[in-house]
Parts: sequence; C-alpha cells; structure tokens
Amino acid sequence: MTTIDIVGREGGRIDLGSQRLDDLAARIEGRVLRTGDEGWDAAVLVWNAMAARAPAVVVQPESARDVAAALGVARDHGLLLSVKGGGHNIAGTAVAEGGMTLDMARMREVSVDPDARLAHVGPGCLLQDVDRATQRHGLATVLGFVSAVGVAGLTLGGGFGYLMRRFGWAVDNLQEVEIVTADGEIRTADRDENAELFWALRGGGGNFGVVTRFTFRLHEVGPMITGGLILWGADRADEVLATYRELTETAPRELTAAVVMRIAPPAPFVPAPWHGKHVIGMLVCHSGSNADADLAPVRAVANPIVDLIGEKPYVEQQSMMDGTEPKGEHYYWKTEHLPGLSRGFLAAFRAGALKVPTVCSESVIFHIGGAANDHAADDGAVGNRDAHYLTGFAGAWPPGDAPDAHLTWVRDAWQTIRPFSTGGNYVNFQLTDDEPARTAAAYGPNFERLRRAKATYDPHNLFRVNRNIPPATA
Ligand SMILES: Cc1cc2nc3c(=O)[nH]c(=O)nc-3n(C[C@H](O)[C@H](O)[C@H](O)COP(=O)(O)OP(=O)(O)OC[C@H]3O[C@@H](n4cnc5c(N)ncnc54)[C@H](O)[C@@H]3O)c2cc1C
Repeated sequence: MTTIDIVGREGGRIDLGSQRLDDLAARIEGRVLRTGDEGWDAAVLVWNAMAARAPAVVVQPESARDVAAALGVARDHGLLLSVKGGGHNIAGTAVAEGGMTLDMARMREVSVDPDARLAHVGPGCLLQDVDRATQRHGLATVLGFVSAVGVAGLTLGGGFGYLMRRFGWAVDNLQEVEIVTADGEIRTADRDENAELFWALRGGGGNFGVVTRFTFRLHEVGPMITGGLILWGADRADEVLATYRELTETAPRELTAAVVMRIAPPAPFVPAPWHGKHVIGMLVCHSGSNADADLAPVRAVANPIVDLIGEKPYVEQQSMMDGTEPKGEHYYWKTEHLPGLSRGFLAAFRAGALKVPTVCSESVIFHIGGAANDHAADDGAVGNRDAHYLTGFAGAWPPGDAPDAHLTWVRDAWQTIRPFSTGGNYVNFQLTDDEPARTAAAYGPNFERLRRAKATYDPHNLFRVNRNIPPATA
C-alpha cells in the first residue's frame, strides 16, 4: 500500500496509507486533493507570500458532514490540521505545513432573509459575497475594509470595519453558528444553546471547531453612502492629525474615519507631481443622513491633493481599498489598540510614518469603538472592548526584495508607539513572531476563560494552527 508522508500534530511524520484518503474521498461530497491535482495551487494560496506553506493534502468539504469525516481522519491519525476561509490571515495560518488543510472554498453560498433581517453565510465566503447579497435588500452587517478577505477568519477573530461604530464587532452581530467540534459533533451554538462555546468562538478564532454556517443579523445601510478618500501632502500632517482627533472625538456613529500615511503610488487618481511623495489621507464612510455637515471639518483642511469623497454605493466603498494590498506580496504588520490620540502618540506616529522605506507600505489609524464599547465586556470573547483606536505600521514589499529594511522599519516604528497602547492588540493582525503573551493580551481578562472553554471543546488541541489558545490544565 502506498503511503503519504504527513506532518503529525505533535511534530514528526505520520505514514498515512493513501487508502485512508481514498476512503475519505469516497465518503464525502467534496474533494480530496494532493499536490498536482487540479485546483491545488488555488487551494493552498494565501495572501501573504512571506507566510506561504504547503500542506501534504487538502480536503475541500461541501457540508458539515464532510467536515466531520475529515476531522475524524485528522484526529484518529494525529495529523497537523488547519482550516482555510479566505486565506487572508497575515500569519498564513490557513495552511498546515506538511499537514492536512481543510479549504472551505466549496461552501461559498449566502442566503438572505430580508424579513427576518438575517444572512446565512457559508464558511468559504469572502466579504464581497455577503455585502453584494445583503445590499440587494439595502441591508448589511459589520465586515472589514477589503472585500477579498474571508468572512470566517475575520469574524471569528472579532471583525471590524466601517459599520463597527454603529453595530459593534462582526461577532456582536452573529446570531448563530453551525460548528463541527473536535469530537466530530455537528452543533448549533447561539446565546442559549451551547452558550459557552458561542461565547468562546466570538473572538477566539479557529480554536473551537470548524464553523460550517454563520448567521448574521442585518441592519439597514445604504445602498448609497457618502465615502471615499481625501489626500494632502504630508507637510500638512500636523493639521490633518489634529483635525482627525477632533473629528473622531465628536463624530456620530454613522461616521467612521481612518488615517493613512504613505508614499503616493503612481496611481491614476493621484496627480503625477505627487507620485513618490509622502502623503496623508483620510478614508471616510458616512452611512447616515447628515454627511455634509459631519464631514465639514475634513473639507475645512485646505488644499487637498485629491478629494474623492462623494455619494457612492456601499459595496463600492467596501471594495475601494482592494488594490492597495494585493495577494502575493510580502507583508509584515505590527499593531496596537489605543485609548485615545494623545499628542505624544500622534508625534510618534507621524515620525514613524515618514521613515517608511517603500511605496507599498503604509501607516494607519482606525477609529473603532462606538457600539463595540457599549457591549458588556464578557459578551463574546473578543478582547479590547474599551479601545477607541487601532493603529499600526504595515510593511509590504515584492517577494524579490531583501526584507531587512522593511522589517526594521515596522519594528522600530512600532516600538515608538507601544508606550501609548492600551496594552491590547487585535488577534487577527498578529504574525507568527508575535509571542504567546501578545495573544493573551489580545483577550485581556477573557483569556483564562477561553483556555477553560478550549479544555472543554478541544482538550487535545486539534485546532492549533492558529493564534493558539492552549487548553487550561486541571
Ligand atoms: C488586506 C487585509 C485587510 C484586512 N482588513 C481587515 C478589516 O478591515 N477588519 C478586520 O477585522 N480584519 C481585517 N483583516 C484581518 C483579517 O480579519 C484576518 O486576516 C482574517 O484571519 C482573515 O480571514 P480569512 O478567512 O481570509 O483567513 P484564513 O487565512 O483563511 O483563516 C484564518 C484563520 O481563521 C480560522 N478559520 C478560517 N475559517 C474557519 C472556519 N470555517 N472555522 C473555524 N476557523 C476558521 C483558522 O484558524 C484560520 O487559520 C485584514 C486582512 C488583510 C490581509
């Protein structure tokens, strides 16, 4: 019998008879792929080329029963296992190096119930799938800023975007999930049924099982909103940052604004004389009715290079940033949560941003909080409910470039802003070189409860290729 060499959960190699995979393939509706099979390259592709890995085998389930069957093989043979949603995790945790990857791409359906204001979403969906389907009814839920990101990974880590200040984290809008736990059980979890599991997976990432259906609550949004980008030369940074602070301290929850500092790319919307020059921008989305008045302070900062803010479909706003961080480049990010925008922080941010070594990288401040701050601290495991801003330095460079200058810029700039942090950070922006203590810090007081839930639902840490929450020991 031929064998397949697969990496085991505890390290080492497992010789799995290929018959086992043939049996699995025969039992499921989905597919079992090995290197060279049609669809292999897409199945193992992740957004951050620096984190690229190759599994020994990919299973593409089509149902919760398929997932349970695949988990059975991984569990019984001690295989290293990962789960891939949209493949956008910056640490590349979608793929298990040398192990088994469950690629959920064949479960990409969305159904919207406009009367109940619910969307049922498959785990292979990208944000764009959900936004397009819900916006046909003038509805939306909280999702992120780049439409090619996966719903599953984004939601399970918390999930923020333009609507967070109105409706909370993405997980705050989760009504129910169907999930296959490590023991192979297909469960429904909501605030009443399997309530502790539901609490834990609302922020605890992929640590508790494979979600096979998400049900989100929907809200009336758009379909037209006021949004876009406005850019100035970086010599105006002090004025723009001061305006941003005032704006965000008083903004209604319908308005979300982010700051971006970077070297202007040679993009068609940037006037040629500015290509290659340092710029500062504000990215805004106003989903209420008073946009002109609320955005007046932004427009009052004179002489922008370009002002692209206007009325547009919400789905267009949701994909506006898609081109800025394309799949296949090398990426390295460090971020922190902030309680506010002190003068000290803004000076450190500006200084760090101006040292950026490449046109692909950027420095950002997101205004978060709002409704997310209102929820009880233990309503879901997502941490940092007290944070008001999320900031960081995002290094990006082509695969051929030596990484040193880029890594040094991100790390050095990050160190200068750390003193202003709440002490927390966003688990979905962590890399493999982030210490386990950073994962604990991302959850704050919820971390020990998460460890106890992990001990209940995944005591042998089957789901470990992620930002791992080790099971509590008795
Ligand atoms: C360009 C870019 C923009 C981003 N913008 C935002 C943003 O605006 N807001 C925000 O909140 N985040 C944002 N993120 C971060 C994003 O939320 C995380 O990278 C997230 O992990 C991506 O989800 P994914 O499904 O694409 O990831 P994947 O890499 O496919 O999966 C990540 C992890 O999620 C878990 N997982 C995936 N599917 C399942 C499942 N069905 N069941 C259980 N566990 C599962 C697994 O542990 C897996 O390792 C952004 C990331 C990028 C690269």
